[in-house]
Amino acid sequence: MPDGGPRLLAGTVSRDPLKDRSPGEGRPLPDSYWAATAGPRPEDDGVLVDDRDADVAIVGGGYTGLSCAYRLAGNHGADVVVLEANAPGWGCSGRNGGNIRPGIGRVPLREWRERWGEDGARALFDEQLAALDTVRSLIADGGIDCDLQDVGLLRVAHRPAAVAGLETDHRLLAETFGYEAELLDAGDIEKDYFRSAEAFAALRFPDGFAVHPLKLAQGVLRLARDAGAAVHRASPVSGWRADGSGYVVETPKARVRARHVVVATNGYTGDSLHPALKARTLPVLSCVIVTRPMTANEKAETDFRSTAPVADTRRLLLYYRRLPDGRIMMGGRGPIDERAVDHPRWKRRLLEALRRKFPPLSGLTVDYYWAGWVCLPFDAVPHVHRLDGHPDVWFSLGYCGTGVAPALHLGSLLADRIGGGEANIPAALERPMPRYPLAAFRRLGQRAVYAWHRFQDG
Ligand SMILES: Cc1cc2nc3c(=O)[nH]c(=O)nc-3n(C[C@H](O)[C@H](O)[C@H](O)COP(=O)(O)OP(=O)(O)OC[C@H]3O[C@@H](n4cnc5c(N)ncnc54)[C@H](O)[C@@H]3O)c2cc1C
Repeated sequence: MPDGGPRLLAGTVSRDPLKDRSPGEGRPLPDSYWAATAGPRPEDDGVLVDDRDADVAIVGGGYTGLSCAYRLAGNHGADVVVLEANAPGWGCSGRNGGNIRPGIGRVPLREWRERWGEDGARALFDEQLAALDTVRSLIADGGIDCDLQDVGLLRVAHRPAAVAGLETDHRLLAETFGYEAELLDAGDIEKDYFRSAEAFAALRFPDGFAVHPLKLAQGVLRLARDAGAAVHRASPVSGWRADGSGYVVETPKARVRARHVVVATNGYTGDSLHPALKARTLPVLSCVIVTRPMTANEKAETDFRSTAPVADTRRLLLYYRRLPDGRIMMGGRGPIDERAVDHPRWKRRLLEALRRKFPPLSGLTVDYYWAGWVCLPFDAVPHVHRLDGHPDVWFSLGYCGTGVAPALHLGSLLADRIGGGEANIPAALERPMPRYPLAAFRRLGQRAVYAWHRFQDG
């Protein structure tokens, strides 16, 4: 594939959910490396064409919606319908980087105790480790072949000044949370991982891993359907209204009358989906490139032998990894205005960042480029709760770009909450989602934050 124009075909990135009232209808999966390598698509239940009743109607067919459906149907015997506007896994769940480590939201670890108290911080930390177990259990339950790279994850100091921060986090993890990350120096990185011009130390999370995200989403889709849930594609929900002891959920061709509604639309949540969701989220664009495979020479010159997922220490962080077939994937923030995402500048930006880290890879070209909307709540942590004034409408939203494990885990816990079982949702997360102050100016605020972070990143 040539490194010419951007590979942004129809359906790759949708309009800004803050501007566009429509979540799309039956858009194809983006033209990503994951879509090209996921193999045959598993079946779903097609478009919803007949009215029906259900215990739970779930809006959105990504990790949150599918894991919630699997647990509700499998563990709680619920009659569940997932309504997906486009295709199952079409959103972030089929287009993310597939990098998984302990981590939830974007609040720096050193602020956790102040924010949630000693017990609250520990409970949240333990739950983020439990989230990794949830992903592993789902993979095992479904025998999901998702190219698991179970080799730990590195957070790499991209400049010498960032080393002290890693050392502080290393101590904090051990002393406050009893978590043994490994501190590596530049020599360790070079010996076991790669030779990079931007790797001055690293924190290794031994239980971090990486997956093929779309294969994972498709595996959870299979699990949910095998457990008895119906998953409908091309069935966008335009809204719902209270009706007797439940809700009537509207799609273009048919309606679902359900006792509970779950909103699992994350970065694709528009302000117009429901008045109680208005001004609660900021959809933010994130972009990914996948290069052509490295040549033997390029491999030798960088000694890029590990497939461990890596993130750097920038505030506007870059993450990357060597894929099993020798390509390099790199991701980072995208433009503020989605109309700019087609501009070759955004693909080039990532490629240049990759070349700065690995100068011998300066001849690499890009085979795939795509983008997606992640969800940033005002307080930078996910929320699992009921909609204000609607006790049977639930949501799990706001993973701040680190959502593979949290979405699968919190979707499952939400199912337990709805199903009446014990649900160990940390108090830090089971709270209403705050509204953005001056919500009309969210994009302006984003611009200011990006400028400040660029300055901090040097
Ligand atoms: C480029 C990129 C890279 C990322 N990399 C990583 C990573 O390496 N590691 C990590 O942990 N996280 C990463 N993330 C974040 C992670 O992918 C998400 O947090 C997670 O997938 C969210 O899952 P979800 O099911 O909540 O939402 P999604 O997977 O986004 O699903 C939401 C779905 O809702 C549907 N929808 C929206 N509105 C409606 C409606 N009205 N009716 C019906 N359906 C509707 C959409 O079509 C969409 O399919 C990345 C995200 C992006 C975009």
